[in-house]
Amino acid sequence: MSTSTPITAAGAHPGGAHPFADTPAEPPRDCPRCPRLAAFREEWRAKEPAWHNAPVPSLLPPDGPDGVRLLVVGLAPGLRGANRTGRPFTGDYAGDLLYATLTRYGFANGRFAARPDDGLALIGAAITNSVRCVPPENKPVGAEINACRPFLTETIDRLPNLRAIVTLGKIAHDSTIRTLGGRVAAHPFRHAGATDLAGLRIFSSYHCSRYNTNTGRLTTEMFEAVFAEAAAFLR
Ligand code: SF4
Repeated sequence: MSTSTPITAAGAHPGGAHPFADTPAEPPRDCPRCPRLAAFREEWRAKEPAWHNAPVPSLLPPDGPDGVRLLVVGLAPGLRGANRTGRPFTGDYAGDLLYATLTRYGFANGRFAARPDDGLALIGAAITNSVRCVPPENKPVGAEINACRPFLTETIDRLPNLRAIVTLGKIAHDSTIRTLGGRVAAHPFRHAGATDLAGLRIFSSYHCSRYNTNTGRLTTEMFEAVFAEAAAFLR
């Protein structure tokens, strides 16, 4: 595990000089910051008007931000997953593995049925994405990741009892490190890696996408091991 001297959230924004003071934790439905993604959103609003087709808000536990000790940071909504249903990791394969794993390690309960109204509830955990709008072919460009980072920053800042983050994939990992004021070179992505930054422990995993599991890059056991570590850390 690589470590660095922990700094506080205040250390990431010294003296309260918050660089995104006017940014809410949730983007507006018609957020204009990424022209390519806004155009893609509009295209799908026309094709599928019943879908969510908007920035996907973070999913919190029923007791709200104060109850969150673990934050899961994904890449971006899937076109027919969260972009369709409006709940992170809901409606495509990645959610099947993520919610089953969260439930197994005590971070969720209820029956996951891939619908926002399935009754599943997070326990002490929240889920967000580093890019809130669906990107074509699941590939956001650097400018879009940077444009959406203020929302990730605000999401983290509104969790006063946060102790750990699980990042899913290199893009989510790198954006989280930058959000916390760290240098990616000092905290490189590595599956099953862990690093300390801004008073938080960051655990990293390959993304739980169907592609990664179909190719064997990520197995259920590998994924569960990351959450087992996070659960042990929070105990
Ligand atoms: S990805 Fe983020 S910054 Fe870009 S348009 Fe969507 S909500 Fe706005």
